[in-house]
Amino acid sequence: MPVENCPLQTLDADSLSCSIREHITHSLGKPCAEAGNRDVAMALSMTLRDRLVDKLLETRKRYRDARAKRMYYLSIEYLLGRCLGNNLYNMRIDEECRNLVKQWGYDLEELREFERDPALGNGGLGRLAACFLDALATLDMPGCGYGIHYEFGLFKQSIQNDRQVEQPDYWMAEGMPLQIERRDQSVIVPIYGRIESHQGPDGSYLPLWVDWQDLVGVPYDIPIVGFGDKTVNYLRLFAARSTDNFDMKIFDQGDYIKAIHQKVYSELVSKILYPSESISFGKELRLTQEYFLVFCSLRDITRRFLKQNRNIEELPEFIAIQLNDTHPALAVAELMRILVDERRVPWDRAWNITNRTLAFTNHTLMPESLEMWPVDLMGKVLPRHLQIIYEINARFLSQIRLTSKADDATLRRMSLIEEQGGKQVRMANLAVVGSHSVNGVSKLHSELVKKVLFPDYAALWPGKFNNKTNGITPRRWLYKANPGLSALITEAIGDAWIMDLDKLQDLVPLAGDAAFQQKFLAVKRASKAHLAEYVAQTTGVMLSPDAVFDMQAKRIHEYKRQLLNIMHILHDYLRVTEDGYVPPVPRVYVFAGKAAPGYFEAKEIIHLICSAARVINADKRAAKHIKVVFAADYRVSLAEKLIPAADVSEQISTAGTEASGTGNMKFSLNGALTIGTLDGANIEIREAVGAENFYLFGLTTPEVERQLGDGSYDPWEYYGKHPEIRRVLDALSAGRFTPDEPQTFHWIFEKMLAKGERYMHLADFMPYLETHERLGMDYAKPAVWAKKAILNVARMGYFSADRTIREYARDIWGIKPIAPK
Ligand SMILES: *Cc1c(COP(=O)(O)O)cnc(C)c1O
Repeated sequence: MPVENCPLQTLDADSLSCSIREHITHSLGKPCAEAGNRDVAMALSMTLRDRLVDKLLETRKRYRDARAKRMYYLSIEYLLGRCLGNNLYNMRIDEECRNLVKQWGYDLEELREFERDPALGNGGLGRLAACFLDALATLDMPGCGYGIHYEFGLFKQSIQNDRQVEQPDYWMAEGMPLQIERRDQSVIVPIYGRIESHQGPDGSYLPLWVDWQDLVGVPYDIPIVGFGDKTVNYLRLFAARSTDNFDMKIFDQGDYIKAIHQKVYSELVSKILYPSESISFGKELRLTQEYFLVFCSLRDITRRFLKQNRNIEELPEFIAIQLNDTHPALAVAELMRILVDERRVPWDRAWNITNRTLAFTNHTLMPESLEMWPVDLMGKVLPRHLQIIYEINARFLSQIRLTSKADDATLRRMSLIEEQGGKQVRMANLAVVGSHSVNGVSKLHSELVKKVLFPDYAALWPGKFNNKTNGITPRRWLYKANPGLSALITEAIGDAWIMDLDKLQDLVPLAGDAAFQQKFLAVKRASKAHLAEYVAQTTGVMLSPDAVFDMQAKRIHEYKRQLLNIMHILHDYLRVTEDGYVPPVPRVYVFAGKAAPGYFEAKEIIHLICSAARVINADKRAAKHIKVVFAADYRVSLAEKLIPAADVSEQISTAGTEASGTGNMKFSLNGALTIGTLDGANIEIREAVGAENFYLFGLTTPEVERQLGDGSYDPWEYYGKHPEIRRVLDALSAGRFTPDEPQTFHWIFEKMLAKGERYMHLADFMPYLETHERLGMDYAKPAVWAKKAILNVARMGYFSADRTIREYARDIWGIKPIAPK
């Protein structure tokens, strides 16, 4: 039908104003005079959506006209954070809209608080995916995300009686005006059933997947706008629904209720996000989720590809698929199934196509997060996929037996099947074998991936392994999150840094400039005062913006060593109260982070932090020197409040355990100085900002490997040698911070002193104290501190997600920007 006459909606104030009022009246059904904050926030989101959709359609046409190669990012998590503010900033109409709603008596910051964070991810891995989507759109790259439309995101955390309490996160409670439901593009997903073996006319093997049940995947698109509002890509999330077909057998027998039950079970698949990214769950529902994501995505991707009258053999020329960790590794088997079973492509050619299309990012070295699925379970849920995996494995092993003369032990290690203790499918091996590229996420991590995780594969395919150091989007993490610092930077060097973060280098000459330092410190102080207000409101603890704001905000995990941090705080507290020690500067310690609900130690670490905070904050002797705060419910919107106010960033994981970290980048970019170990991207951050602007301590990865490897790490030695360590551990063991239940933290005493303690807390404890000491002295000299902090900001350009995405595009995906003319 003709559309030429409809005027495109524009971004000028009149058009925006008109649309907002339109939506209040016609979408929300209210007279404008009665619109409350929530209504205006909702109408504003809808107004933006209308404009984003125009650009989305334009972008789609542009890619199609260019016959562009596309990249699809498959991730079981996306930690987007709130969209309204981000869209306003990326479309560059934040000022316009702020003024507009102000005329009507509303405050834009208040309106933004009405949006719930879509928390469809746990932490770093999901947030990386979100940063990548922002960078892809900003760079006009044809790259979209695929994921699951969880009904419940990551649980909400509150603190009750010093302990974490979890509540369900029904993130769509207020509606989600941004998403576009696309029922017409729903996908039918076969699952369960069994395989019948037949023969084709030519005698070839013809499997028939029969008696399967089905689910329906309904896509929801969230528009992703790049900075400057030129390109709008999408994130497509699938929700599981049941088909309209009832199970007729049950129905015939008159058990209507049972038939309905089966429907409800189908919808369970996208009901909830599993609350940890770093442990494998081994649950049938999780396997179903992974398959659901993979099936829906590949169906959608190949359908779009084939619609353009292309030959399936050309797939790798037009499509790249990136697997974000092993959760979507079933894509290897599913793409083979599509090619071999549905398209009748001979196995070898299908394998070549699959391999050239897929690429895999590894995110962790932790043995407990290596995904494995019992063969029995996979055979029950995905009978054909298991068959295909066995076939891939048989061909792969016989090939390497021939070509590289691998011995039996090597073959056992490289097999896709773990044979020990009940057969299991090794998802990481499946992903490596089925992909043409395997990357780690920081220099150190990528080396360890080759050396520790996949030495046999790295020897076989040295060219397959590469590094892509993570990055963060400067739009959300500086431009939007820290308007004060953004304005100061733009005033000094212009605003080109938003699109080209390397431009921050122009700040280097200003790092020693007294006037600029003054302004920089004033901006930081204002952020701290702002956060202090939030903390006072939410916890009742009063903070002085003159103190050092020292933060550790990330998931609670033993390897991230929140325990090391709190033990140092306890040490300082005991020094102040028992030794009469006076620290050079007052300190505020802020912790934030969620613990997986089933992770005892992590939950007890939160309990310890909160108990210690209660004791310390109530002690008059410590009041001038130390405050401890646990900020509940860490999520993107809280990170945006915390990070601009940080002076010190705690990045203190045991060397060799944190793959990259991205929190470390956010803090540094906002002018916090890092106290950290030589782990993950810390190493590259330190090289970039300069060793003198980074507080390094602790063992190196080879030292950790050696001492844990040969069993020479003996925590009792440190306990015996250092009275500081003894005092803290004895205080914990004696129940000093939980007088009513003195046994509560005795486990920490035992754990820290257990032979070969995995994260070597005590080995790094004294160097950590000494480094903190040095840091405190430097902070007491504002000019020294300001210079270091400014140099951190100025030299963080490398850690823009734009740089990371350009590298992926060039080295792995082979995609190019398709910018509007
Ligand atoms: C950046 C971010 C993370 C990752 O933090 P790390 O310190 O790299 O573990 C986790 N959660 C949220 C909400 C984040 O914004």
